[in-house]
Amino acid sequence: MSLKWKSQLAPLTPYKPGKSVDEVKKELGLYHIVKLASNENPVGSSPKVTEFLSQNGIKANVYPDGYSTALRKIVSKKIGVEPTQLLFGNGSDEIIQMISRALLSKEVNTVMATPTFPQYRHNAIIEGAEVREVPLQNGKHDLTEMLNQIDENTSVVWLCSPNNPSGRYITEQELILFLDRIDPSVLVVIDEAYYEYVTAPDYYDAIDLLKRYKNIFITRTFSKIHGLAAFRIGYGIGCSDIVTKIEAIREPFNTNSFAQAVATVAISDDEFVQRCQQMNEDGKKEYYQFCQTHQLDYFETEGNFILIKTKLDSDDLFDRLLTYGYIVRSGNALGYPGWVRITIGTEEQNKGLMSALEVILK
Ligand SMILES: *Cc1c(COP(=O)(O)O)cnc(C)c1O
Repeated sequence: MSLKWKSQLAPLTPYKPGKSVDEVKKELGLYHIVKLASNENPVGSSPKVTEFLSQNGIKANVYPDGYSTALRKIVSKKIGVEPTQLLFGNGSDEIIQMISRALLSKEVNTVMATPTFPQYRHNAIIEGAEVREVPLQNGKHDLTEMLNQIDENTSVVWLCSPNNPSGRYITEQELILFLDRIDPSVLVVIDEAYYEYVTAPDYYDAIDLLKRYKNIFITRTFSKIHGLAAFRIGYGIGCSDIVTKIEAIREPFNTNSFAQAVATVAISDDEFVQRCQQMNEDGKKEYYQFCQTHQLDYFETEGNFILIKTKLDSDDLFDRLLTYGYIVRSGNALGYPGWVRITIGTEEQNKGLMSALEVILK
């Protein structure tokens, strides 16, 4: 007898993470490995976090504050919203899951770009919703076609900006045109996992737009520029009514005490964030230069990663870079066959990867 699994689970497979450093060390017998596959912060995290972790007095035997009160207060001040407008999650992955659980079902459809961050689709399928995917145009969301796909049964639209894996973003003008044409009964989720890296002057201010459009919900994370991926903490920002509704779905103690504590420290360290952003800008320029010199197609990126096209098969290139000790992400797994996604690392890491790539391309 087999168990009565939800039929939606049939096509799903568990998330396949990028290869781990230890795995590669073992497989190839290499000592020096650089992982540039998961958009983690190559610098680490704020020195203040390290110091804090070595001397904090968090009690392991006490349940965390389920409402993340202290972190809520600091984040709300920092970004200029009411504390009641915030929802904390075990990574922004969990925010995506909570939104899906609250708003998606067999009765509705959901609209998103493709390729984009896979968790929107994954969660929508689990909830049984019809998934409408609109191909990117030159790495950008095709907002006109996304509007065409929205109908009276659409519950959630997902915008990833900057988009993972293409790195391109939606401009303020494009977003406003889009929001003006959407019925307020549709929730527009704007995933801003890479928000702190953006330097484009025509990027929108989603928090400001929230005053005008009550049906938007922003997600952000501590995993990327704040360098806290291991702690699993992210947050959503929306109007209080929406947050209250989703709060009912949240597990009582979804974010742990350590994550809440280090996040309050990390969000206060502007200097660290600026340093990482600057390093990322410098790294971007080096990659642009490299691609131009070697006549490789690439997308200009507003994230901490870059998608590059080569003449080699993506999986082959992945394997060859691995032999030099660099883990990247093959585009085959990301909906971009022929491309690779490389996390922008430190100056030394970037230089090392580019010299390996140069040899491989010859
Ligand atoms: C990394 C990433 C996330 C997930 O972040 P967590 O907070 O670590 O769960 C969400 N969205 C996008 C687009 C990402 O690239």
